[in-house]
Order: sequence, then C-alpha cells, then structure tokens
Amino acid sequence: MTAELRRSITPDLRKATQVRKSILVRGRVQGVGFRPFVYELAVTSGLGGHVQNGGPGVYIEVEGPSELIARFEEGLRRKAPPLSDISEISSRDVAVRGDTTFSIRDSLLEAPGAPEIPPDTATCDICLEELFRQEDRRFGHPFITCTSCGPRLSIAEDTPYDRIRTTMRDFPLCSSCAEEYASPQSRRFHAEPIACRSCGPELRVLDSHGVLLARPPIEAARAVLVEGGIVAVRGLGGFHLACDATNERAVSLLRARKLRDAKPFAVMVADKDEAARVGAVTDAEVHELSDRAAPIVLVPRRGETLLAPSVAPGVSTIGLLLPYTPLHHLLLRAVGRPLVMTSGNRSGEPIATTEEEAIQRLGDVVDLILSHDRPIAVPCEDGVRRVVDGVRLPVRRSRGESPAPIALPRELAVKTLAVGGQFKAVFGLGLVARAVLGPHFGDLDDLCSDQAWRRGVVSFERLFRFHPERLVHDLHPDYSSTQYALERAQEEGIALLAVQHHHAHMAACMAEHGLDGDVIGVCFDGVGYGLDGTAWGGEVLVGGYDSFRRAAHLAPMPLLGGDSAAVEPWRAAAAQLWRAGLENAAERWVRAPSAPALRALRALYDGGRSPSTTSVGRLFDATGALILGMKRLSYEGQSGCELESLADRAREDEGYPMEVVDDDRFVIDPAPLFRALVDDLARGTPREALARRVHRGIASTTIEVCARIRQRTGLSRVTLSGGVFCNSVLTKMMVDGLKWMGFEVFRHQKVPPNDGGLALGQLAIAAARGGDA
Ligand code: ZN
Ligand code: ZN
Ligand code: FE
Repeated sequence: MTAELRRSITPDLRKATQVRKSILVRGRVQGVGFRPFVYELAVTSGLGGHVQNGGPGVYIEVEGPSELIARFEEGLRRKAPPLSDISEISSRDVAVRGDTTFSIRDSLLEAPGAPEIPPDTATCDICLEELFRQEDRRFGHPFITCTSCGPRLSIAEDTPYDRIRTTMRDFPLCSSCAEEYASPQSRRFHAEPIACRSCGPELRVLDSHGVLLARPPIEAARAVLVEGGIVAVRGLGGFHLACDATNERAVSLLRARKLRDAKPFAVMVADKDEAARVGAVTDAEVHELSDRAAPIVLVPRRGETLLAPSVAPGVSTIGLLLPYTPLHHLLLRAVGRPLVMTSGNRSGEPIATTEEEAIQRLGDVVDLILSHDRPIAVPCEDGVRRVVDGVRLPVRRSRGESPAPIALPRELAVKTLAVGGQFKAVFGLGLVARAVLGPHFGDLDDLCSDQAWRRGVVSFERLFRFHPERLVHDLHPDYSSTQYALERAQEEGIALLAVQHHHAHMAACMAEHGLDGDVIGVCFDGVGYGLDGTAWGGEVLVGGYDSFRRAAHLAPMPLLGGDSAAVEPWRAAAAQLWRAGLENAAERWVRAPSAPALRALRALYDGGRSPSTTSVGRLFDATGALILGMKRLSYEGQSGCELESLADRAREDEGYPMEVVDDDRFVIDPAPLFRALVDDLARGTPREALARRVHRGIASTTIEVCARIRQRTGLSRVTLSGGVFCNSVLTKMMVDGLKWMGFEVFRHQKVPPNDGGLALGQLAIAAARGGDA
C-alpha cells in the first residue's frame, strides 16, 4: 500500500477494519534474513506490529486492515528469502493494540520448541563482487558475509540464532556495520555474522610451533605454497591442509607427512573454468560444484592434467571443490593455481578446529598456519558428492547440508536420537516428522573422533533444544555408538531400539523417497552385524520399515586372519580361489607377501574355524587383489574404487557368471566368477576388461535374483543401498538393468548409500515402531 493510499483511509474506517494477528512461522527461518524480510513486507504493506526470533521459529504480530494482513500472510510464503525453508505458518487473532509502526524485537529466550539452524553457505556472488572491488569498504576482507551467505551452523553455540549466541559475540559491530545491520535497505539487515576490517575477526599466521608471525597473512601463505610448502588453513568447519596441487614434490611431501599413502586428495580450483581444465566436468557436475553447500564433487580427471600424479593415484576421478569462504577466494587468487585442500587431520583423526589442535596435531605436517580469531563452534568436514547418470549421488553429507532437515515418512511418537554406525559416523535427531542429521565425524574407532562425535551430539541437543526419549542404535554390540547408547539409556532411564545394519540401509533409501509398504532392498557394503551374529554385507532383503527378511545373500566366505583380512586383500583372494577349488591358481595368482604366509593362511582355511562374511566389499577385495595385484589397502574401499576406474574405461558387456542356489533363500555363489577370472588372467586379458566383467557379473546376477524374488513376492520396487553403491559403474549397471526388467528403482540422492546414511534409516524404522522400543 502506498503512503498516499494509507493517508486516504480515514481514521474511523481504519479503526473499524483493524485486526491484529499473532503468527508463528516454523522451519528454517533463523539466520537466513527472515526477520528483515518480514520487516520489509510489513512496512511496505503499511502494517504495524513486530517480529522476533523464538524457540520454535519466528513470531510475528501484525496489525492493520484485514485484507492487507491476508496479503501479508500470502507474501510470507511467496517471497520468503532464498535460504529459508518454511515448514508451517500458524496464525490466530489477538486483541488490537493500535500499533502503527513495525519493529524487530530482541529474541524470545523462554519460548519452547525446536528451532532450525541453517547450514553454512558458500560466499554469494554479490559478496564476492564486493570482496574484489577496490572501492568497497570490505575490499579484501576475509570475513565478508550477508543475509544470504556465510557461516551459520559452524558458529552457532546456542539458539535462538543471534550474534550473542554465536562465536561472533566477541566482535561488537562498529558504527558502519551497526548501521547496515539496522537498515532495512541493506543486504546485511540483521545478518548476524557480519563484520568489517575495523570490527571483525582478523587473519593471522603462525609458524608450525604456534609462534605468531608479523607478516601479511595471505602473502605469507602464498609464499610458502608456491615454494612447495604445506599450509594449514582455518576454514569454516575446521582446518584444511593445503599445498600446490600442480607440484608433485609438494603433494608427495604432504602424503609422507600426513601418513596417507594413496587416498585421493581433494583439490580446490579457483572457479568453474579451472574446474573444466582439470576435470571432464558435465553440466550436472558444474551444477553440484556451484551448489550453495560447495561440496567436493568427484569428476572424471582429464587425461592431460596439470595436477601432480600423486593427488589421486590409481583412480580416474578427481575430487574438486570451489572456494566457499572469502579467505579461500583470496588465497586461490593470490596463489593462482589449484590447491590440494584435504581435511586437517592425520588419517583416522577428526578434523582440527582450534589453533591449539592445529599446532599440536598438525605442527609437524605443516610449514605455516593460516588462521584467524573466529572460533569454530561445530566442526564440519567437507561434503562429497558425485553425479551418476546426471543425478546426484551423495558420498558424504556434511558441511553445507547439515543440519537442514530431511522429512521422515512417518511421524515419531517420541523424540528419538539415532546414533548411526561406527564408520563415517553421523548421528540424527528425530523431531516429529523431521530428521536432523549431524555432520560427518569419521570413524569412531579413533578415540579423538569418538570424543568429537560425542561433543557433536551435545551441541546439537543444545542447538535444537532436544532431549531424547528414546535411543536407536545398530545391532553391533561393539560399535562405540552402540555402547554410547546403552550407557546413556541406562543412566537416563530412556528406551532403546536396536536396528539391524542393512535394514537401516534399506530404510534410509526408502525414507528419502517417501516409500511405504514392502520393497526389495539390495544392500551391498563392507560389513554389518547380521541377525545371526555373522558379518553380513551382500544382502537382498524383503520388507519395509516394520520388518524384513533375508531373501538372498552372497555365499559366505571365510575371513582369514581377522582384522587384517580387511586390509590385506590377498587373503580374500586366496580364500575365494580355494573355495572354488582352484588350488594351483591360488599359488600362481595370489600375491601373498611370501610362500610361508600363503601356507599359514591355507592352514587357517583348512582349520575351518574362521568367521565368515557375505560382504560384497570383500568380494571386490578378492577380485581387486587378483586384477590389480594389491597386497595392502591404504584406505577402505580402495579395491572397489580402483576396479571401478578400470571398469569405466572398458566398453564391453560380458559379465562373469555366478551361481544362484535356491535354498529356502537364494544364495549367490561367486565360485564360477573366480574360475572365469583365473582363465582370463592366464590368457592375459586386459585388466580393464576383467574389472568390467566383475562389475557386470555382480550386476546381472543381482538383477536375476531380484527377478526371482519378484516372481515369489510380486514386489517390483527395488532400493539400492550400502557403501558399494558409491560405485558409479555398478550403480549405473544395476539401475539400467533393473529398469529394463520393469522394476522401479530407487537409489540415494539425499544421504549417502554408505554408513553415513544409517541414522536416517534408524529414525525411519523407529517412527514405524511408534513409541515402544
Ligand atoms: Zn553474501
Ligand atoms: Zn564493522
Ligand atoms: Fe554399511
């Protein structure tokens, strides 16, 4: 309404039609510029009243002519700011008070309920433009943000989300910033983390012992990087280790110092053009790279690349990401070449977030520490995605996505905390119909990771005003997360629910797609605790959230040598060849460290007392050891990754046979695959073809099994879950083949198929069980 129109309404008429409404907007509405937006909308509508943050969301009171209020309410939904996500608007009439002006009030602290905190968001285009415009007062300021970009979760200490409850509280706004904060015309109106050179956090550089250096920080970091040194860089959710990705000596040095022999490093490139020079990126991949979450995207590497070979040895993909903080932009521009940006930790440890940790744990890895004085409240590792067949496949859901909620297919009767698994640990808070998943916390085998994970649970419970009434955990009794759940349930007297690992995988995939009823759940992974106490991992389940049965699985193979079986794939290869009766082939093709070692393994095999597993991950290990000659794995899933890269280069369509034995449930016997593989090895068939035939064999046999299950059950919906489905070649073969057979196929697009997705499945199953455990 224009001012003129407003004046033309007589005071009497105004009074006659005045109404006042109290409105509560729920969803992701704090820290996204929602109050300024409401202010703007109310003022331009000529309404009085106020807006404030409260526990469950944003409270609004508006007063004015009823039809203008109706229009205002409609505008709330239609014009909401880009980072917001409204889940519900409720309003009721209250007594008219005669307000004619509109204001933003301080947050309500006592209001109950669960707020939503937005994920951290990559620097927006407008801020970026200001960052590099010399006349701008924030030219070159490494902490530039606005209402639609910048840190959120990583600086949040408590809610309601206001500056005083973030790690920005120690940086009082200067008068210029305060003016922008208070001005409805500004892009920074009520943007909590804003700052400038005179009031904001400051960059600094320390040497590897933590001694503060009096040098311009970006310039100092640039100098070390171009000389081939290693710099720890404090990012949004933790420290990264950076080095020149085009300098082989620098990258090898980082590998040697970080004790990481082969796991690929991610590379930060300045922009989309540089991404296209390094990787063969498709439009869909560029789209993922430019996402507000700015994840690492695994893309095919260009044949002739400027990158150093040891950035990603043995695989044909490369993990790229774009700069997502102003500091990254400044650094990339100063250095002028792509930088390795890998999590600031040693293998297995959690990401370092404080300067003390960086000095203590990274001091002997780095030459310089590029830091600043804005603390990190919640550690967040980078997320990882890939694109398969033009569609997103999440590999790790973390910074930029957590804690955005995911809808649950059914409502939870009680507040439920899902503790996830042991590896790629992610916990999840279940609030009615929403799952709020935490970021990635690594493997809980590591004591530091376990502690970081526990601190993460505490932070999330505080931020979301959440106290669980039930805990849901994996069936594995030795998982740290299971033990945490058992202890806490006892201490606090709350209910427990144990969920079988692969059931949770299947349910996670179903939940993402809002499926109900029964499905055929293909669950292939490294390992999960089975109902019978053995290590499952090649399962085809039939069921839904409420229950499941094991309709098919891979034939069990002995795990020779306990824990070392998982890191020494030659053991799995020998076991499979012996199982298939290929004595001589084992002598010839298994790359055991020595002849006595192989004989000792044979004795274990003959003893018949080793535990067994149906894991598809171990099947990939066995084939990988034969095809690639691997003796020792340097990271989990390495065989699968390297085989996938080989298979991707072959273009034939033959697959190795596997036998399907119909024995009350279907058992998939890989013996024929190994016989054919050994024949091919003897013939000197190229490795690419061998790798492809392994993939095709597993895919075709699984599809056949699904078809036989469909015959018996009438089910035609298939979910693909478990860490093996991070493999794009196998995923694509399965999706295409199943669709061709008339199945409806569902694969992960919101949470990873690996154990990072377990918590979502656990919550979906808990919801189906109602209030009881
Ligand atoms: Zn911005
Ligand atoms: Zn300022
Ligand atoms: Fe798993």
